[in-house]
Formats: sequence, C-alpha cells, structure tokens
Amino acid sequence: TEEILHRQDKLAAVGQLAAGVAHEIRNPLTSIKGYAEFLSLDEKDQSRQELFDIILDEIERVNSIVEEFMLLSKPTIAALEKKELIPIIENVLSVLDYQLRKSKCKVELAFIEKHIEIECDENKLKQVFLNFIKNAIEAIGSGGTIRIDVKKEKEIKITIQDTGIGMDKEQLKKLGEPFFTTKKTGNGLGLMVSFKIIENLNGKVYIESEPNKGTTFHLSFPVVV
Ligand code: ADP
Ligand code: MG
Repeated sequence: TEEILHRQDKLAAVGQLAAGVAHEIRNPLTSIKGYAEFLSLDEKDQSRQELFDIILDEIERVNSIVEEFMLLSKPTIAALEKKELIPIIENVLSVLDYQLRKSKCKVELAFIEKHIEIECDENKLKQVFLNFIKNAIEAIGSGGTIRIDVKKEKEIKITIQDTGIGMDKEQLKKLGEPFFTTKKTGNGLGLMVSFKIIENLNGKVYIESEPNKGTTFHLSFPVVV
C-alpha cells in the first residue's frame, strides 16, 4: 500500500504542475486568439483566410487542453461547499441542450428525493457531469437515450447510462490515461481530469460497458453530514 500512496502523491504533484502551467499559458493564448481573430476579419485573400482558419482551429485545440488541465488545481478546503446536486445536473443538461437535440438524444433524469446535498466545488463538479454527458452524446452519435439516476443511500449514488457504441475491454483499461482518445477531435483529457476531481471529492467511479450496447458510469460520493 505504501507504493500506491507514493504513486498517488506523485500524480497529485504532476496534476498541480500541469494546472500551474495551464494557468500561465492561458493569458498569452487568449491574446493570440484575439489578435488572430482580429486579423482574420479583414483578410480578403482566400488562401490566407484558410491559413487563419487553421490557426484558429489549432488555438482552440490548445485552449481545450489548457482548460482541462486547469481543472486539476486542488480545491482548497474552503472552496468545498454544500450544494444541491439535482440543480447542478439540470444546469449541465441545459448547457448541453443544443448538442442533445442535434444528436437526437433523449434524456431521462430520475430521482426519488429532490433535495440531495453534496460537498463540492460546484464548477468542477459541473465539469465532471459535462464531460460524462458529452461523452455519452458522442458515443450515441445520432438517436439514443441517456439515463441519469440519482439516489441517496449510505452514499450518494449517481449512474449515467447511455445507449451508445460502448467500449471493449482494451478501451476500458485505458480510460483515464492522459491523451487516450478514439475521436478525431478528442483530446483524451476529459476522463482523466474528471476522475481526479472525483477523487478530490472522496468519490468513486466504476464503469460498465459493452460494445454496441452502451456504457454506464457509476459514481458515488459521501453523504453530507
Ligand atoms: P475525449 O472525449 O476527448 O476522447 P475523454 O477522456 O472524455 O476524451 O474520453 C476518452 C475516451 O474514452 C473516448 O475517446 C472514448 O473512446 C472513451 N469513452 C468515454 N466515454 C465513453 C462513453 N460514454 N461511451 C463510449 N466510449 C467512451
Ligand atoms: Mg470527452
């Protein structure tokens, strides 16, 4: 067990470093993006406009990586607050409304008890749900169902189930590895960051998946006392 602890410490340290570097990259990146957008506005030359489009796409790519890594910064104890869980999930679903419609995804959100409190950093927990639900939408592609169940027992239990393409054993093993992606425009950071945030909230995740059937993410968090 000592070795495992040691490794987790190292992972935490790497996460902090990545978050710090991401913060430093963000400001110059924002100005590069602003100026590139500004220059591309008056560009009349077609082939130079194409180059600007590539530059802007690539900036967006770096931006998505930076944003994921920034989420790794450790929540200070003071940043953890008691929040209502259901509205957090509902908020994420409304943010994703457009993508859900576009992909013809039906969403079922089921709970018996409406008022369930969770100890969290609200923005980071939203990011976790955003990552999981976005992945579900992308796994579905077009036409399917995402079912989210929330209940409070000895722990707070949340399952996110999709009827998407699913994963085989090899893929499942790689989940959470940085940069592991099977998508053309994926960055393979969403799950790594989400798992880290869940761990920081003393939560747990396990995953069930079957190719061509779908995937279920099971999350559990301590009940707020
Ligand atoms: P990205 O979405 O950028 O690829 P993630 O870390 O969010 O990165 O996910 C990593 C990989 O895990 C995805 O590329 C995909 O292969 C797999 N994956 C994650 N969620 C699901 C899901 N709900 N259904 C099927 N595959 C999934
Ligand atoms: Mg993703």
